[in-house]
Amino acid sequence: MEILSFKRLFLDFYQINRSRREQEIQGRSELDLGGWSETLFSLVSLYKLQGERQLLIEALSDPYFPFTKLKKLNLQEFQKEQGFRDLSEESLAKMAAEHFLQWAEIFLSIRLALKKINRGGRVSSLSLKGSPGETIPQRGKCKHCGCCCEIRGGPPEFTGSVEPPGEWLGYFRGDCTGFQRFCPFLFEYFAMGKFFCSIYLIKPKCCWEFDQEECDFLQKDVARERMEGLRAGLTSRIK
Ligand code: SF4
Ligand code: SF4
Repeated sequence: MEILSFKRLFLDFYQINRSRREQEIQGRSELDLGGWSETLFSLVSLYKLQGERQLLIEALSDPYFPFTKLKKLNLQEFQKEQGFRDLSEESLAKMAAEHFLQWAEIFLSIRLALKKINRGGRVSSLSLKGSPGETIPQRGKCKHCGCCCEIRGGPPEFTGSVEPPGEWLGYFRGDCTGFQRFCPFLFEYFAMGKFFCSIYLIKPKCCWEFDQEECDFLQKDVARERMEGLRAGLTSRIK
């Protein structure tokens, strides 16, 4: 694997995929997917095994794959964390690439299970059929930033009347990957940086306990991050 190119190829695909999904939301029917497919194949070609490449193609072609959280938490912020700061670029890229594959696998497993148990949206509250016409329900003042779901695991006390598949207990506990920085049930709407809970109607007890005060606190962080991003952009233009 030419591992050092992972970050660049991920970001290239992130951009082109976002633009593709934006066009879908705008209802443009004459989409040219040539550049999108080419960028996708460049990214997945970093992986040796045909099965891995196939798995990634399936996950990354899904309009609910959470690219923006992976970009922020597993690609850009790993290197700022204690214990990761001293690692070489190569080690960080390797970890990010391996984690990306694991995440794709977990994501597809959740998608598959939801296809079986989400009849009529009784788990997600959405049908999740990949239509941009099906938007995220507005709940209270939620801005769909997904910050409340940036967790490394929690007690898997699922609620509601639908029995979750056994492996979901481990997914929520955070057992499945050492680099979990957000909940695997957090999906993104059409790569737009808007997030929703794919198991909203049966989400664990601790998720129901999250309240407005905690949300307001997290929103201050989001505002600070945006300001830092704006400042960084300004500095790079001035230089
Ligand atoms: S932190 Fe608040 S605004 Fe963001 S997703 Fe959670 S509830 Fe919504
Ligand atoms: S189960 Fe849903 S609400 Fe709870 S952390 Fe995961 S994505 Fe967020």
